[in-house]
Amino acid sequence: MDINFECTMCGKCCHDLKLPLSVDEALVWLERGGDVQFLCEAVPWPDEPAEDNLLAQHKRRRSFAASSGELPARIVVVLAAAFEGACPHLQANLSCGVYDQRPTVCRIYPAEMNPFIELNPQQKACPPEAWSPDKPLLMSAHRIVDVQTAALIEKSRAADANDTGAKALACKHLGIDTAALSNEGLAIHSPPREQSIAALRLAREAGGASDRVPEWKVASNRRETIDTLVSIGALGVLCTAQETSSFQYLGFFSASA
Ligand code: SF4
Ligand code: SF4
Repeated sequence: MDINFECTMCGKCCHDLKLPLSVDEALVWLERGGDVQFLCEAVPWPDEPAEDNLLAQHKRRRSFAASSGELPARIVVVLAAAFEGACPHLQANLSCGVYDQRPTVCRIYPAEMNPFIELNPQQKACPPEAWSPDKPLLMSAHRIVDVQTAALIEKSRAADANDTGAKALACKHLGIDTAALSNEGLAIHSPPREQSIAALRLAREAGGASDRVPEWKVASNRRETIDTLVSIGALGVLCTAQETSSFQYLGFFSASA
């Protein structure tokens, strides 16, 4: 199926977001006075996956190695520009106030960065006229054919892979060491802006090199998950309240105490 698309500049996609950013983009966002959250998830990683396990290899590229007690794990950290309502850069005329420096994800939308998610126009904020057949071809036979968008997606995936060491170091500087069990939720850390800037700069200057495998705790809001984690020697944290002392737990399932 072909998908045609052209942005109508309606501004609908610039509201209520957690925009994923590269480390360099997060620094720019913070230095402009924005807020950046650290969304952390832990993937148990007892063995290295086969080369042809494309989903696992994708997760591996965008994560760093860690341990949680006796459990080997990989930690995915997404730096997200978070805002409720309109983006702080959205102008009254619905144009972007930082258009030439806007994050890569804003340039890619409505295409998907995740290679395992198919673009579905029904799930996008764009109005019907943005998708009409007279617009430029964006996607054909499940592939992005717009050259600029395809290049931006590749750039974004490369940054995702290159930034893992810097993210690990930044978390260490900030004392962030708890991630939600993958597929069950997210641990959302919101360090003060100045501390985030300092940590990300230090991590960037260090070249993202880590001296040892860091120790992380694994959080869940489900008692049975924590019991299982503890039974295999992992450091489990039961989050019965959404807000904990140091992070917010966003669960995908109902809590069980
Ligand atoms: S940075 Fe610009 S394009 Fe991106 S969400 Fe904000 S206003 Fe929209
Ligand atoms: S919702 Fe779609 S059409 Fe509207 S500004 Fe965003 S990308 Fe453009």
